[in-house]
Amino acid sequence: MPKQQDPSRPDPTVIGEVSAPSFARLPDPRTLFIRRSERLDVLADDHQLGPYLRFLSALTDAQHRIQDGLPEIELPTAEARERARTFGMPPLDRGQFTSDAALGMTLGRLFEVAATIEKPKAAAAALDRLANIDASGVDSMVRNVLTDAIPMNALAEHVYVAAALQVHFARLAACLDSSKLVPVADGACPACGGPPVSSIIVGWHGAHGARFCVCALCGTLWNHVRVKCTLCGSTKGIGYQEIEGGPGTVKAETCDACGCYVKILYQHKDPALDPVADDVATLGLDLLVREGGHRRGSFNPFLVGY
Ligand SMILES: [Zn+2]
Ligand SMILES: [Zn+2]
Repeated sequence: MPKQQDPSRPDPTVIGEVSAPSFARLPDPRTLFIRRSERLDVLADDHQLGPYLRFLSALTDAQHRIQDGLPEIELPTAEARERARTFGMPPLDRGQFTSDAALGMTLGRLFEVAATIEKPKAAAAALDRLANIDASGVDSMVRNVLTDAIPMNALAEHVYVAAALQVHFARLAACLDSSKLVPVADGACPACGGPPVSSIIVGWHGAHGARFCVCALCGTLWNHVRVKCTLCGSTKGIGYQEIEGGPGTVKAETCDACGCYVKILYQHKDPALDPVADDVATLGLDLLVREGGHRRGSFNPFLVGY
């Protein structure tokens, strides 16, 4: 009788060139933000949004720098994580999230370092306003970011709060066991339940050409087959749009079923592409796709309001 194969561990000699990517890849907060900062700096050159991209480069550099010496992160208990897994829920429940000392210090440090960076006038005024908001005000801003409900009249303030939350949740996600993550829903991060910021086609060894959605909050990547809406899961009515004459490395994947689009970055063609930075820098593509009637279905705290 032939030996039975474990489907979760395909024999590489049998699958040959066919990729068998793992379902999820956790973020590494030690490299995530510094690489993003460098990418934003490069993108800022000769760009219409140059000053804003330079500000984001400095802000993401702050996200990197504030991590040293932050209090240890506290994950939900192993029991709670296991229970979440059993019910197909993410282990980091954004709805149940309560602020702790580590987040408090992350916010405080981020605001402090942000005060020292060069920024557009609106961003400077927003940081001044933040300095006068009490703890409960900051708490409600935290909730706004975690529910993707950032009020239009306070977008600039929320950029700083979101930046601190990205650091905190990337640190949390990095402590999870990626092999224990399970799909929770279309368009939802298996670690924190958040929406994607964009999706990337990776060039990783062993997963070349596979597509991953990237969480806007914690930075976890989860595998999602190509030509399938990352939000509603439809495989019908999928289209691709790009800026004419561009390098062809960033497209909008539009879905007629839900009427939304999410950008897809061809990182295997250009490894420098960053799911957050290149999303902001291709705002022109958003404007183009919206003319066709599709709505932006992804979330990027640095691009809200455009
Ligand atoms: Zn997440
Ligand atoms: Zn859809």
